[in-house]
Amino acid sequence: MSYKNFPMVPRVVFGRGSFNQLNEILAPKRLSVNAPFIFLVDDVFKNNTELTSRISLYYDDKIIFISTKEEPKTTQVDELVEEIILNTKERPSGIIGIGGGSILDLAKAVSIMLSNEGEAKDYQGWDLVKNPAIYHVGIPTISGTGAEVSRTTVLTGPEKKLGINSDFTPFDQVILDSELTKGVPKDQWFYTGMDCYIHCIESLNGSYLNSFSQSYGEKSLDLCKEIFLGDFADLSDVEAQEKLMMASWHGGMSIAYSQVGVAHAMSYGLSYLLGTKHGLGNCVVFDHLEEFYPEGVALFKEMKIKHNIELPQSICAQLSNDEFDIMIDVALSLEPLWENAIGKNWQKTITREKLKGLYQKM
Ligand code: NAD
Ligand code: ZN
Repeated sequence: MSYKNFPMVPRVVFGRGSFNQLNEILAPKRLSVNAPFIFLVDDVFKNNTELTSRISLYYDDKIIFISTKEEPKTTQVDELVEEIILNTKERPSGIIGIGGGSILDLAKAVSIMLSNEGEAKDYQGWDLVKNPAIYHVGIPTISGTGAEVSRTTVLTGPEKKLGINSDFTPFDQVILDSELTKGVPKDQWFYTGMDCYIHCIESLNGSYLNSFSQSYGEKSLDLCKEIFLGDFADLSDVEAQEKLMMASWHGGMSIAYSQVGVAHAMSYGLSYLLGTKHGLGNCVVFDHLEEFYPEGVALFKEMKIKHNIELPQSICAQLSNDEFDIMIDVALSLEPLWENAIGKNWQKTITREKLKGLYQKM
């Protein structure tokens, strides 16, 4: 048995208003006047001067606003890398991602592809990256995915939706400033927050569980219960925002040393075929998984009611058999997730018919 030697984010700032320290954190990392910092920012902040005015641009530094209507694609990474190479005199000093899971993943992938040959799709998988990424910083503006701590960057490629999992993927620096999350709309707050909750349930109920994962997973789960079932007046509560930020972090740490499970496997199928976004897709699937996670799903339903969340219904109602087959293929290809969720003999119970029956309910 060989144990994972897992890289962690080496530097993190936590605190309300800590985003103000960004310029001072970056300054010593500048390699030359010709090597700019490139800021990849969710375009929801395009006209938000409260955020953008605090990013100081020097020399050739540049902000690129990015739409997150769709989840990141390998081709989008390749285009960004090309745009950056064509418009900079030297390889950039660093990439700074400011946004949710989508932007954080793009920032990680772009920083890897600026120092590795070929196309992003060539690196989807485990430990395929050869050279260290350039310096990259992650600044979440919505909490839940754990992308700020994880060793992966999830991308949709021409053939698969799969992460670039490597020791070079984690950020060199993270800034956790909960104030940046204050404008998140309620539905999205719930969906992305539930991504974190589901990470905990899947990790804590999986066969890969160990004390490392458990210690992070339990803490994160406690925080989720406090946030989503406790008596905070609403999501503008500062303490609730800070707690969700830490829940996301711990949830990410928990799965780093274990794995996710049934909801994630099936949600990847929805996302691949229908483009359903990760947080929402997880909720749609998890709502029907009481046979796998009875307690977790019961609590989820309570949270849904407490926050008046109505999930879309019958999104699979009109699908053809071929379309079900595509989703089932994607879900079944994620073998470690099933092995974690069900155990070594998962193939005995997780049949194509079983998955089709579940998808038909969604
Ligand atoms: P997201 O990044 O797509 O953002 C969701 C929505 O929230 C967007 O419309 C965005 O504009 C908006 N938003 C973000 N911050 C805001 C703010 N402060 N104010 C107002 N609106 C704001 O969603 P997400 O759920 O954070 O991330 C999902 C992505 O993360 C998926 O692509 C998924 O594959 C990926 N993911 C990655 C990992 C990982 O470990 N790398 C883990 C889980 C999920
Ligand atoms: Zn997730």
